[in-house]
Amino acid sequence: SNKPKIVVLGAGYAGLTTTKRLTQKLLPEEAEIVLVNKHNYHYESTWLHEVAAGTINPNQARVMISDVVNPSRVRLIYDSVIEVKKDEQRVVLENSEITYDYLVFALGFESNDFGIKGMAEHAFAIEDIDSSRFISEHIEYQFAKYNNDKNATDDSLNILVGGAGFTGVEFVGELVEKVPELCKKYDIDRGKVRIINVEAAPSILPMFDKDLVDYAKQSLEDRGVEFRIGAPISECTPEGFIVGDDQELIKAGTVVWTGGVKGSSVLEKSGFELTKGKVNVDANLRLSGEENFFVLGDCSWVWNKEEDRPYPPTAQLATQEADVTANNLKALLTNRPLEEFVFKSKGTVASLGITDGIGSVFDDKKLRGKLAAAMKKVVDNRTLFLVGGMKLVLKKGKVRPF
Ligand code: FAD
Repeated sequence: SNKPKIVVLGAGYAGLTTTKRLTQKLLPEEAEIVLVNKHNYHYESTWLHEVAAGTINPNQARVMISDVVNPSRVRLIYDSVIEVKKDEQRVVLENSEITYDYLVFALGFESNDFGIKGMAEHAFAIEDIDSSRFISEHIEYQFAKYNNDKNATDDSLNILVGGAGFTGVEFVGELVEKVPELCKKYDIDRGKVRIINVEAAPSILPMFDKDLVDYAKQSLEDRGVEFRIGAPISECTPEGFIVGDDQELIKAGTVVWTGGVKGSSVLEKSGFELTKGKVNVDANLRLSGEENFFVLGDCSWVWNKEEDRPYPPTAQLATQEADVTANNLKALLTNRPLEEFVFKSKGTVASLGITDGIGSVFDDKKLRGKLAAAMKKVVDNRTLFLVGGMKLVLKKGKVRPF
């Protein structure tokens, strides 16, 4: 056909939202829309720490793409993107190739270990459903093994988490819920299990004010988390982390790195110029100088002019970028001027397990405790609503009583 072809790569927050908005804003005859994703499901990246701890079932955190995007309107291709050949307007997939007139690159994040020796080989990472489910299964296996294997040491029950940013702290918050459950199930004394969170920076959760950070740290310590702050990890060995100036080896049967992310490695394979693992985009979220190439979500840096630094990568940012990009694609197709992207923060909430949390919302109103935990569930349900409407909220929403 002669219709312009819009290809969206990735069905995460940025890609799925762009696709859904395009189907609402464009008439079928205005453009052909293609969505490429590795799996036939979309998952909530912001819930992966719960999948990794085993506090939710992986199926609660994912939804079939064909249930939330109309397959008669959007061509769905389930395949892995290998490389984008920008000069030829072509995308190489694992099993085929596809050309485009307009491209939306939204392949999300990958773990970044900053080259710490042994990390890629010996630590787990929370990256997607598969890698997160693997972690919860591994933890449970350590507990199941403990009373059956004469060589099993107490260290094998330890869970060691590298990085105390958002993901690391939310993950240990889930572990304090899960560990007592596993201890009961496998007849193990809770006192034998250590949850240790190691961070090189002088504080946990750098995005929150000090009083909230202090509250979070105290709350988690009261429930048995050990923090090692200001303690750089110099190496990850098969036994655990080597930490701090005195090169102490902290041993654990489960070792998880949550200390950093970068944009999809497809960016590098495609030869784009990277700044700290992502590309810079202009105010229309396009690669500079490119008419038809948008890069969204965790694959790009968008400049916050007010604070003179890039916006931190969040689901919220990715979703708002998608809304503007759908508008701008419509504008390109109809020869109208494009709009500039402006981020409107709705605040940030971090969970600290099922009934606790901290948050900074509505122009810096601070929340802590049960109220923050409740707010987190509201945020999670709103995200589901945007993906699949009330039907999906009722099916997979967070309505755990507390
Ligand atoms: P993603 O959501 O990662 O989606 C990328 C998609 O591309 C996925 O469907 C993936 O399968 C697909 N894909 C990847 N590579 C390929 C390939 N080569 N070929 C084909 N398909 C591919 N943000 C918040 O705002 N609030 C929070 O509370 C919050 N909590 C978080 C908790 C955790 C544990 C984590 C890990 C992140 C959290 N974030 C949070 C950050 C947020 O999840 C990301 O910023 C957001 O997911 C970025 O969206 P995205 O669309 O760019 O990428």
